[in-house]
Amino acid sequence: MKPIFKKRVKIALLSIFATIANPSYASDENKHGYFVEEADGVVELIETDMNYRTPEDAKDDFTKFCIKAGDNSDKLPSVQKSLTQIQNASDLGDHIIKRAQDLDVIFCMHSAIDDGIGAHYQYKFNSISLRPEYNITNIIHEIAHALQHDNGSVENDPEWDLISHIKHILMLEATAPVTNIIHGFEMRLNGDDSEWQELRKRGNNSYRFAITSTTLASFESHYQSKIGEGLGHKSAIEYAGNIATKEILMNRGWKNAYIDNILKGYADGIINGSLRTAEMKNGFPTMDQIRTYGDFGKYNISSKMPDDLFTRFDTNLLRNISTQSKSMIRKVEIIRREQVYPNKINTHK
Ligand SMILES: [Zn+2]
Repeated sequence: MKPIFKKRVKIALLSIFATIANPSYASDENKHGYFVEEADGVVELIETDMNYRTPEDAKDDFTKFCIKAGDNSDKLPSVQKSLTQIQNASDLGDHIIKRAQDLDVIFCMHSAIDDGIGAHYQYKFNSISLRPEYNITNIIHEIAHALQHDNGSVENDPEWDLISHIKHILMLEATAPVTNIIHGFEMRLNGDDSEWQELRKRGNNSYRFAITSTTLASFESHYQSKIGEGLGHKSAIEYAGNIATKEILMNRGWKNAYIDNILKGYADGIINGSLRTAEMKNGFPTMDQIRTYGDFGKYNISSKMPDDLFTRFDTNLLRNISTQSKSMIRKVEIIRREQVYPNKINTHK
């Protein structure tokens, strides 16, 4: 059952980069547009105005520059190759690529992504945006968001207050990387350790990355202990995945990086009027809603998240956040108060 809201707020779900690879194109901060790609991997930026308001606005550019999963076009050959690679490497990979094909998910490569963000999924356009230096981990993470969108869990309510927004997005962002762990782990079980080591490397290189060496070791040992008890592969993966979700939610560096980003989006929403400042309410999320967050069809990850974690998470949410985030919260509160009580402020003239 999908939650129904009167109005949707445009949100982009992100994959925060652990390391920025050396891009194979000449970067120019002042130019924005799509990248087209030659068969030899060389990419070229085609400048375009990317300020689309509706999917209809974006349609022509998507046709020109982007692909859908399952497209047999000559566009974005490296992305097509990555999708095939994911599909062939693991059971989870096969499942999510087929789902992305069913859902007509659009893949684009363009410049309009902030530094430090590897990729994002915009549910308004059902599109995944990649930077030229994207990797497999980014793609899997964003497809997980497309699946979350399909099960109704990405939609949010413009009346939610800040804490509700933060909780909503953090829950979605904590379950998406578990698909990366499962993919890497299934490859490892099949004798290919490369993705698992890649995740380990990214975790070691950045305190903001969701997955740490500890998360990986813990996932593997929980999986093996359940196999030892006679559970099947799927059940053991789900058990280990649920624990990994909780560990990610407790990862302070990861959490603060996302909170910084959510605050920026929230401030934008207040300023551009997509959030209804006068009616803010603590509305989200209920345990039933959270249960849909980790529903990736093949594996259902967050279904067993215990209520006590959620309560604990709620009370600790803004403890130890960065100074930058604290000042952003103050700014947002001032803007909101000015919008809700404009007359009150005018009386101080
Ligand atoms: Zn994300």
